[in-house]
Amino acid sequence: MIGAVDIGGTKIAVGMVDDGGRVLSRMQTPTDPNRYDEGIELISRLLRETAQKSGVEITGIGIGSTGPVDPIRGEFGDVDFLPGWRGKSPVKDLAQIFNVSVALENDGDAAALAEASWGAGRNRSRLIYVTVGTGIGGGIIIDGQLYRGVDGAHPEVGHHVVDPAGPECSCGFRGCWESLAAGPAMVAWLETHAPAGYPHREGITAKKICELAQQGDAIALQAVDHEAFYLGLGLANLINLFTPDAIVLSGSVMKSAPLFLDRIRAVIRSGCRFVPAEKTQLTLASLGDDTNLIGAARVWHYRFGKQA
Ligand SMILES: [Zn+2]
Repeated sequence: MIGAVDIGGTKIAVGMVDDGGRVLSRMQTPTDPNRYDEGIELISRLLRETAQKSGVEITGIGIGSTGPVDPIRGEFGDVDFLPGWRGKSPVKDLAQIFNVSVALENDGDAAALAEASWGAGRNRSRLIYVTVGTGIGGGIIIDGQLYRGVDGAHPEVGHHVVDPAGPECSCGFRGCWESLAAGPAMVAWLETHAPAGYPHREGITAKKICELAQQGDAIALQAVDHEAFYLGLGLANLINLFTPDAIVLSGSVMKSAPLFLDRIRAVIRSGCRFVPAEKTQLTLASLGDDTNLIGAARVWHYRFGKQA
């Protein structure tokens, strides 16, 4: 039984995941950005409690974490919103506490591994996983192997530029895919373009825009169209660069995927003429809200599963 740890900027989820990718028990807690030692203590306690709850023994631990991590050394990198965690090694620390093998990956890579083995990406050897929520992240699987950059680096699919005149991004560029096609971009578009008397402006969210669009609200439909255009551009770029078997779409914005998919496909068809773009399947992630947690467990299987 694998203890799974999903570390995000605002919360840490912990759970027990069996060999088929099923979550038997889970708990979560807010992330305390500064105190790593207390964080590890808390994670250990939650691992013990979730194991006890489902009456199992932990045989390995997998971690998926937001931000740059060093999967080879098992250390946190320059994680923006977790300044006190930089350079720390949860792999070494949890291995010592639980006396089991521990593996760490970026959470986008972890989720990609989960969808590739237990979810919508099964039997697709070239697969790109893309999650669209408050940001855009993902992971790339080529011939069944997780693609890693130099020194094990995780490529940032959300930070390829689609419009150099676009909004500033925290990475240093303007007009990254993330800054134009993540949930907040849809909100920003509506706030800028809705007429003065638009009744839904106050406290509008990406989710609310999708609901309004489903009800036929003309402004929300324009926001959705704009969003779908930029989603389509980024996906078309990925298809031109990789021509994968499938792109698995996930994240809160993709819960409303039917609103976007026709336009996305039209954008892809309008370019991508030199690759067999129609053969790349756009498919929705199938593991649901626990994808990252299940992914964390998959990280262990990916690293140690063959020998176990
Ligand atoms: Zn960027």
